[in-house]
Amino acid sequence: VKIVRTIGELDHPDVVTGFVPTMGALHEGHLSLIRAARAECERVVVSLFVNPTQFGPTEDFTRYPRDEAWDGELASDAGADVLFSPSVEEIYRGRSTWVEVEGVSEDWEGARRPGHFRGVATVVAKLFNIVAPTRAYFGLKDYQQCRVIARMVEDLNIPVSLSFLETIREPDGLALSSRNRYLCPQERALAPLLYEQLLSASAKIRVGIDVDEAIGEAASQLEASGFNVDYFALVDGFTLQKLHRSEQDARLIAAAKLGQTRLIDNISLGT
Ligand code: AMP
Repeated sequence: VKIVRTIGELDHPDVVTGFVPTMGALHEGHLSLIRAARAECERVVVSLFVNPTQFGPTEDFTRYPRDEAWDGELASDAGADVLFSPSVEEIYRGRSTWVEVEGVSEDWEGARRPGHFRGVATVVAKLFNIVAPTRAYFGLKDYQQCRVIARMVEDLNIPVSLSFLETIREPDGLALSSRNRYLCPQERALAPLLYEQLLSASAKIRVGIDVDEAIGEAASQLEASGFNVDYFALVDGFTLQKLHRSEQDARLIAAAKLGQTRLIDNISLGT
């Protein structure tokens, strides 16, 4: 894999280019995106950039795991041709212009992490301009992020086609996340309950149990087991608006803290 650190060094050959933006600490979730890009594109660019503008002042920007050499090997084995690994200074010469995606970014993660989606949308727009990919790949694990980026690409007429791929999970159901390594063994043992409760609420809703009741039970189970639930909700899969009865494309989304670690997950109601 060719490691590129500056915008000037990135070339733009006239071939179908697939792009996978990441913050590094690569795991099978990221690798599934890189492999999909490899299968569909002539050239695969992976970015490694821990984006400071999407972290809140009390979040884990400085202690976010960083290991470029190891990430380079994993990305290369999964089929990346270019690893774009810029410094913060390379990406942020100035910080006056922001991409704000109204509506879909406002509730849920947006409400709990002020400025987060503004940072995400801004850096993804910049990376799209820098890399100029034909296709870009994102994980459904970050469901609201997928909707924010889709909205931005449509609203700003960005010439890229987006792919959103299924969440990769541990054998016990826990969604892979770079932040799972923060969990102590006791927390790690509890962590799969978030996904279990999403499945359980989904099963209840599908057999006709009241949505708010099913969700209330799931949240209580999580709280009783030691989670601090931020939200657990049924939402419209496109607008992210809260639903009280099931409809087509509904999505169950949840965020909860185990100790200091915040976990998010979601499933489609069809799952
Ligand atoms: P991150 O490095 O956390 O910014 O994630 C980079 C990309 O990988 C995003 O599009 C994420 O949605 C995606 N991703 C993270 N975890 C998973 C997972 N468990 N399964 C599939 N995609 C994932």
